[in-house]
Amino acid sequence: MRHTASIRLVLATALLVGGGCSTAPATRGNVERIYLNGDILTMAGPQPAYVEALAVDGGKIVFAGDADSAMKLTSSATEVIDLEGKTLLPGFIDTHGHMFYFGKNLVDADLFGSKDIADVIGRMKAQISRIPADSWIVGFGYSAKAMTEKRTPTRAELDTVSADRPVMIVDSSGHLGAGNSALFRATGVSAATPDPQGGNFSRQPGSTELLGPMEETALNMVRSQRPAFTGELADKVAINGAAAWASYGQTTAQDCGVGLGTDDIDIVRNAIDKKLLPIDVYICAKDSATDNTVNAAYAVSADYNPKPGAVAAKLLAARPDLDKRYINRVRLGGIKFWLDGSVDTAWFTQPYATNPPGKSGVYTGFRQISDETLNAAFDKYWTTDMQLNMHMNGDAAADQALHAIDLAISKYGMRDHRPVFIHASYLRPDQIAHMKAVGAVPSFLMGSLTSAGDAVSLFWGADRAAHAAAANTFVREGMPFTISHDAPVSPLPAVIPLIDAAVNRVSASGKVMGPDERISPYDGLRAVTSMAAYQIHEEGTKGTLETGKLADLVILDKNPLKVPPLTIRTIRVMETIKEGKTVYKLSATATSTTPGA
Ligand SMILES: [Zn+2]
Repeated sequence: MRHTASIRLVLATALLVGGGCSTAPATRGNVERIYLNGDILTMAGPQPAYVEALAVDGGKIVFAGDADSAMKLTSSATEVIDLEGKTLLPGFIDTHGHMFYFGKNLVDADLFGSKDIADVIGRMKAQISRIPADSWIVGFGYSAKAMTEKRTPTRAELDTVSADRPVMIVDSSGHLGAGNSALFRATGVSAATPDPQGGNFSRQPGSTELLGPMEETALNMVRSQRPAFTGELADKVAINGAAAWASYGQTTAQDCGVGLGTDDIDIVRNAIDKKLLPIDVYICAKDSATDNTVNAAYAVSADYNPKPGAVAAKLLAARPDLDKRYINRVRLGGIKFWLDGSVDTAWFTQPYATNPPGKSGVYTGFRQISDETLNAAFDKYWTTDMQLNMHMNGDAAADQALHAIDLAISKYGMRDHRPVFIHASYLRPDQIAHMKAVGAVPSFLMGSLTSAGDAVSLFWGADRAAHAAAANTFVREGMPFTISHDAPVSPLPAVIPLIDAAVNRVSASGKVMGPDERISPYDGLRAVTSMAAYQIHEEGTKGTLETGKLADLVILDKNPLKVPPLTIRTIRVMETIKEGKTVYKLSATATSTTPGA
């Protein structure tokens, strides 16, 4: 792995010139800003701890403690912010989402809440006037289950949107979609095309003729050929995506799957070069695009880092804060693998309790990749700084991951790698113990799982549903875990609804799903702050309000620890602050910003 080694060498050089985390307290009369008169919750430690005042200077927290001591740090130039009883927390950290992908969707037709197929077709026709004449007509976010017809639109129906321009729709899970005739022509898919491993194209009964719908890897085969977002469109993807994340209190976003689109790397590079991002973004390379992404990261590092013996000015200008792994707010953190599907395609060791529609016989879901592929990835990356992130919902997928980790440990020994089990929806008790031994961290898809809780109970059965997203088991075991929205799988990159879901676990029909796995609001907040920082190896600079860390902050209108749990979802993000600078503020005229509120 020449490139990985090179990146690590460059980053090591960067660390040498960069300086470390300062813990020296601010001296008298020089701080830029002080926050007072609110609930300032530090998130340090397993129990809630408050301070009276927080002082910020140079993008860092320089004091967290009593108000009298804080006031001694002020001068006439210091801005003293009266929180007026609001709650100040560390900025939220996204532990699994797709910011650039979401940014692209902001360009596409919004199909969320489509009532029926006519509604989808109408929205897709309206999209034509919003986009350049040579681009694909793409829509995102419908749910076949939620529409009157309970099915995905067909090729013939999508041909009514356009006969000659490619039309593609993708459902809210991102795993299913459909295309028109022009889309299949443009991407070289025909009746003669075999289904790829791990996916399928729907066919006319009794023939191979394409019906239009496509699942999993078949959808990826088509979607990956979408023409590039370039120029102003590429800028918009980054700017609008980051703005959306910041509006929900996040100061660190994630795009775990860069490479889903062939233009992703260019979009990220464009954001780096034009300094478009107001918040940090941790990116993972999609498995099949890893080499390209690593090569691109190497090129960025080479451009932004000093040659041996040269002046470090360009690097330091690129990253003014404490963590030199970031360049203009982007850090290549890891690689993403998909091991199975979602609610009706999760890969289990035991059969589904009720087969999902269209599945017959003894059905245990789908595996997405071979053991050899995953084992090879761990063999290659276990000892590097490239963190392995694995999408999994069923326990057979978790077994596959644990086996690959065991092989790497037996060969290279234990490392502080922190492999991420994305979603980890159903884990057996023996697997949780195994995760503790190997240091794996789950990032539960809390909001979507509980809102889909009725389908989860039906397909997986009551027992697996009750133990799904087993957050409280992790609390009891003293193990780190996080919660994530996976936007655009959740329609919005909102954090407060995740805490609501983890605390209340109420399904769409109003049932409490697995009451024993409900957690306290404080543990819910830890899962998006301190434990989230731990998951991404950034606990040295983020996740708590402590002297020396980055001044990444969020202000909420109410304290989640002091409201009735069922009202947590109505709490609003008032302001988001990245390294001391406001990157989002709720406008005085806005009545509601959070989805869920
Ligand atoms: Zn995802």
